Amino acid sequence: MNAFQYTALPARVIFGSGTLKQVREEMQALGCRRALILSDAHHAAGAAADLAAVLGPLAAGISTDAVMHTPVEITLRVMAKLDQLGIDCLIAVGGGSTIGLSKALALRTNLPQIVVPTTYAGSEATPILGQTENDVKTTLRSMDVLPEVIVYDVDLTIDLPVKISVTSGINAIAHAVEALYAKDANPVTSLLAEKGIEALGFALPRIAEDMRDHEARQQALLGAWMCGTCLGAVGMSLHHKLCHTLGGRFNLPHAETHAIVLPHAAAYNADAAPLAMERVARALGVDHAPSGLFDLARQLGAPTALKDIGMAEQDIEVAVEAALAAPYWNPAPVQRNRLRALLENAFFGNRP
Ligand code: NAD
Repeated sequence: MNAFQYTALPARVIFGSGTLKQVREEMQALGCRRALILSDAHHAAGAAADLAAVLGPLAAGISTDAVMHTPVEITLRVMAKLDQLGIDCLIAVGGGSTIGLSKALALRTNLPQIVVPTTYAGSEATPILGQTENDVKTTLRSMDVLPEVIVYDVDLTIDLPVKISVTSGINAIAHAVEALYAKDANPVTSLLAEKGIEALGFALPRIAEDMRDHEARQQALLGAWMCGTCLGAVGMSLHHKLCHTLGGRFNLPHAETHAIVLPHAAAYNADAAPLAMERVARALGVDHAPSGLFDLARQLGAPTALKDIGMAEQDIEVAVEAALAAPYWNPAPVQRNRLRALLENAFFGNRP
């Protein structure tokens, strides 16, 4: 076995059905008395309103300002309203975009956060914040953005449309795939990664057949937590860096971009990380990890080509330059020609 170092992150996790109403207790356990609820258009009249009713005078209001890729201008706009609200904590009910806004506010205010994730993106379990400014998405790691409490309520995910379930689920799988070949991989995160891929590989096809399959919804949310925990604990490489470049530069939809790029990033690293690929393949029950990941996305109706989600062919070269501009560690060296080939394959949706 290889030597390793591992720092576990603090985590308080409530997992179950109907747990939204436990948020009040959690808030009080943190010693908090007034919360701003962050949510999105989908949950504003549903879960966020239900939570506001449960919290009563402990809720200062609901903000639905969050958008994808956490633009700094939106964060600053919400910040400007915080002083009048007299809040001492943030509660996010929604997907990665809502949680992103919560983290961006926590970074600037030190307010504690309770997050109630409703997609499978996994952001709730990480001390990572991606923010966009002037078309560039940058990420930072800080314990100031790690939520104090995660409340998983499976009931809130039952209506998550199949399309978003699949793409955000593959986004979570991407965290685990990169964790398996990370420079600082360790036995704990590798175990979580394999189990997380297995849970989502089992659940996503069942959700695609019947979005109200409760057991599959449970497994998917559990998988999302495991995969998010991996993302929070070890460094990411080619796949995540490329997706950030594509998302920030061309405003491509986050989860779809991950779903498209992942099989090609896995193929790029396959020879350099054979053991990681073996574990991904085993978790998915396939022979070849990159094509297995591609087939999973295609069978579940996720997009498989960047050209279909708003990227133009001439953007490939721009993306190659942008991706090479800030070097980082990757199992296989990041080379211009191979990177261009990867992006071309992802652009046209070629099966690896
Ligand atoms: P999202 O939060 O934008 O949600 C996608 C859509 O799903 C939205 O329209 C939302 O209203 C809807 N939705 C959410 N939950 C729903 C539900 N239960 N039922 C019906 N509709 C629902 O998308 P996402 O994929 O969850 O998150 C993407 C964002 O998260 C990106 O900005 C990305 O950078 C960030 N992210 C961050 C990390 C991290 O560790 N920092 C990890 C993963 C993703």
